[in-house]
Amino acid sequence: MIEFGWGAATDIGRTRKSNQDRLLVSAPMFVVADGMGGHQAGEVAALMAVEHLAANTEPGSLDELVTLVEQANESIYDRATGDPSMRGMGTTVVALAGLELADGPAIGVVNVGDSRLYRRANEALVQITEDHSLVETLVRDGRLTREEAAVHPQRNIVTRALGIDRRVLADSWLLTPVVGDRYLLCSDGLFNELSAREIHSILDEIEDPDAAAETLVSGACAAGGHDNVTVVVVDIISVDEPKVASPDRVAEFRPALPMVEKRPLVTITETSVPSAPVMTWRLGLFIGSVLTVVTVLMVSVVIYARSGYFVGIDGPDVVIYKGRPDGVLWFDPTFEEPVKLSVADLAPTDLADVQSGVTFDSLDAAKRYGFELYTRAESKP
Ligand code: MG
Repeated sequence: MIEFGWGAATDIGRTRKSNQDRLLVSAPMFVVADGMGGHQAGEVAALMAVEHLAANTEPGSLDELVTLVEQANESIYDRATGDPSMRGMGTTVVALAGLELADGPAIGVVNVGDSRLYRRANEALVQITEDHSLVETLVRDGRLTREEAAVHPQRNIVTRALGIDRRVLADSWLLTPVVGDRYLLCSDGLFNELSAREIHSILDEIEDPDAAAETLVSGACAAGGHDNVTVVVVDIISVDEPKVASPDRVAEFRPALPMVEKRPLVTITETSVPSAPVMTWRLGLFIGSVLTVVTVLMVSVVIYARSGYFVGIDGPDVVIYKGRPDGVLWFDPTFEEPVKLSVADLAPTDLADVQSGVTFDSLDAAKRYGFELYTRAESKP
């Protein structure tokens, strides 16, 4: 048996007309679903997912938990294809369930889409699920940095959801429950507004799970509330027959696609401060590897800071710079060449883009854009 503590909160946010997120807290089952689709269809899809899991809150195994999600997918898909007003609806789902397995208690997790499961343990915040989203694919392919992905205009495009196809690809995990661990299920309305550090410090500082959930949701609304925001905080209070857990708690990971296998969990933020360590060969090895990582990071920062070009503004003129628009650390962008166009002549639709800096991989691409600006400025009424 696992004894859970929990708290939950949801809010429509500041800009949406309806709340298409749904949540379930019915120990040992906890779920967040983020619906998509117009005219209430997204709400229907999210509700159908949550209701199917609510009717079966005690799956006997990880396979059973995955099957429940697959069944929910089929009912949503049937409804979406059978009812014209529901066409195209879908929903993300992230579910955490306590399981009573033959060899003791475990935590089962299933994820489809870009809602997330995090865990705060040993002063580190770790993201367990991997987003099924366009930007995550681009990050994995090395075409976007995590920082670029976090502010990318298409960051809400998901690549997997329930209701879109008769078959769904669900990632699943078997985790070892450890007393004191705190799990967070949330929709993208949370992490698109609050940084990992802000989320981490709220989870650290507010012990009551309900108060922590409320604070996370109100924080996301105060930070902009561009989307519905939903949060479920789950604490592991006690565990019968506790087992020795690996630091990442992952007893088993079953990705729906083999290419993401062996992905290490991403530690997002850490607050631990080691106290006066005694030098040992292990520590020496550790410090050596940290120094190597720091060196590699520094070199990467320099390469990143000086890579690329952007078209921006220098006083009254439009110019091409080398580097990144806001600079990186202490590396400011440098003037490369003029576009021979003044800011006052820009087409109104281009002004805001150029003010914030339009980035390119090569000087040629930046020049081509400069030429386009020039053409549009010429044809300005
Ligand atoms: Mg959302």
